[in-house]
Amino acid sequence: MAGQHNILTDSFGRRHDYLRISLTERCNLRCFYCMPEDGIDLRPRNEFMRTEEVLAIAETFVGHGVRKISLTGGEPLLRKDAGAVIEGLAAFPVELSLTTNGILVDRFINTFRSSGITTVNISLDTLDPGRMERITRRDHSDRIIQNIRLLMDEGFHVKINMVVMRGTNDDEVCDFIEWSRNQPVHVRFIEFMPFGGNQWDWSRGVSQDEILSRATERFGATGFERITDRPNDTARNYRLKDGCGTFAIISSVTNPFCDTCNRIRLTADGKLKNCLFSHNETDLLTALREGHDIVPLIRDSVLNKKAVRSGMDTFSELSAPGMHNNNRSMVAIGG
Ligand code: SAM
Repeated sequence: MAGQHNILTDSFGRRHDYLRISLTERCNLRCFYCMPEDGIDLRPRNEFMRTEEVLAIAETFVGHGVRKISLTGGEPLLRKDAGAVIEGLAAFPVELSLTTNGILVDRFINTFRSSGITTVNISLDTLDPGRMERITRRDHSDRIIQNIRLLMDEGFHVKINMVVMRGTNDDEVCDFIEWSRNQPVHVRFIEFMPFGGNQWDWSRGVSQDEILSRATERFGATGFERITDRPNDTARNYRLKDGCGTFAIISSVTNPFCDTCNRIRLTADGKLKNCLFSHNETDLLTALREGHDIVPLIRDSVLNKKAVRSGMDTFSELSAPGMHNNNRSMVAIGG
């Protein structure tokens, strides 16, 4: 309404038109950097949003200006009614996408297509099957690789998320870039981030600068080029000069992009998080179930959003011991 403050605009003037919804905390992988070693507690099903609750909350956001919704998890496609949620959200005037580990993708190709999904983000940290088993503590590499090929063959825009970790997979950075030369694949290198229970230690992290200098070493300073980022892009994008795909770096640790952040997150148990690193959450699900208006709750959460990484402006604040003990593990946020 004219003259009225948009509830999704924060006190720094950032407008949040991108909602990430986690559909489940369950996952069929056990990536060591994402999930605590002893897993996370399974909770009763009624603590999580039902399909109609996901749709009702999403509708409120869409009504206030959300234009993009991305599904995540846990593993979103593990949820029994994932197809129904996707089809329900497809009825809204939004760009719909999802991030998945790829294991179940082949069962959903038709749903993706009929729901207007054109981009799929797949997490893949290594091209080596043995390594993948060590990272994920599961043996699904064949299915994942087959499903990435299937998505490409079917014409989907495929983004690959690789969390780069020293001594684990950092020697594969240039192989992933090389992959983008002849295949229409969009690789995104993600700096290793700290969350509850993931025993983060930046000595295992690899920075944006280091990734770029490795690319320079292998491909030469003129072998790749910076390309235009999309508005609100969290990644800085590049392309090999003769590449048909692209590569990009998401540097939340060494070079955060908070000033253009347009994201807000809904966890599978219906809590609103105004930042990945935020310890404070707003319980939308309970309010919805009790018949309250969730709009004032959303507005307050957005207005409380801090300028940078939930108040951890500097690297030393982000990396201070115990800083993330009260945050969830990534598997319960969704990225
Ligand atoms: N299961 C889905 C998948 O594999 O994409 C969605 C959930 S997963 C938590 C979302 C993304 O978070 C993945 O790309 C994963 O690699 C990333 N991630 C998890 N822990 C991370 C960490 N500590 N630092 C950076 N990225 C992380």
